[in-house]
Order: sequence, then structure tokens, then C-alpha cells
Amino acid sequence: MNAHVSQGGWPVLVLNADFRPLSYYPLSLWSWQDAIKAVFLDRVNIVAHYEKAVRSPTFEMQLPSVVSLKSFVKPTTHPAFTRFNVFLRDRFHCQYCGSPDDLTFDHIVPRSKGGQTTWENVVAACSPCNLRKGNMSPHQAKMFPRQTPYAPTVHQLHRNGRMFPPNYLHDSWLDYLYWDTELDP
Ligand SMILES: [Zn+2]
Repeated sequence: MNAHVSQGGWPVLVLNADFRPLSYYPLSLWSWQDAIKAVFLDRVNIVAHYEKAVRSPTFEMQLPSVVSLKSFVKPTTHPAFTRFNVFLRDRFHCQYCGSPDDLTFDHIVPRSKGGQTTWENVVAACSPCNLRKGNMSPHQAKMFPRQTPYAPTVHQLHRNGRMFPPNYLHDSWLDYLYWDTELDP
């Protein structure tokens, strides 16, 4: 989850025109280079800055830490099927024993038996459970996921995401994240 920090540092949080993050999962971040390009193309407003400037012989500019799009982009309602989002849906716990450690993915109906790689057939599972289940069906293994896996909405992932915030959040971003927290303490 540190990819955005290593890509040159000074990541920029990108907000939609309504000042909500363009995306939570993954969090919409641009490199500062892309953000400055968008400023010059007049596509974004700068909302907050880092205490850090870039200089060239002809100009100096503080690095933006938060930008907002000038035109509203319709947010996606269906989160991408990614490894991270499966873990997030399952709250980073094995769906068989509840362990938070050593997580992998399990195909409930094994791929060798025609199981698909979909929201409905993939769950977080710890390595020991995954090994124990092997290539068996849930009935053969007598192992059933605690929660019937489902394709989550963005809202459902937001709820879970508040329990697992990204490990790098610049202070200037916090006002724009988790905007509905007060509705759901
Ligand atoms: Zn387990």
C-alpha cells in the first residue's frame, strides 16, 4: 500500500468537483508531476499545499497536496474486483476461522472444479485453512465461509475501509476523507 509514496513522494489527493475523493479503493492519488500538469491544463483547482516548493529558473510553485477536478465525474458504484477489495470486503479476516494472519485467497468452488474468479466465489482465507480445504468443495471439506461472499457496493467498502485506513494519509487530506463518519459513529 506504499506504492504511491514510493513513486516520487508528495502524492496528491484527487477530489471530484463535489470535494469527495474521486475514488477510495484505491484512494485517488496522483504524482505531484501529474497534478501540476493538470493545474496548467486548467483541469483542477488546488485545494491544499505541502510545505514544499518546486523551482525552475522562471517560476516557483508550492506542491499541491489536494486538488479538485473542475468538472464532475460520475463516481463508480461498483468497486473493482481486486485483491485488496476482496480483503476489505472480508475485513482482512479468514472467512473460515476468523484469523487475521497469513491471508490468501480461496476459491470456494475450486478452479479445478470450474469455480470462477469472481466476488461470489473468492474469499479471504488464511494459509492453514486454504491448505486444509485444498481442492475440495465446501461440502467435501466441511468448510463454509462465515459470510456468503457478495459483490460489494462502494458504500459497503467505505464502511469497512474506515476500520482499515491507508497507512499514509497526509494531514491536509483528512478533511476530505470519510465524509459520512459523523452519520455513522
Ligand atoms: Zn483460517
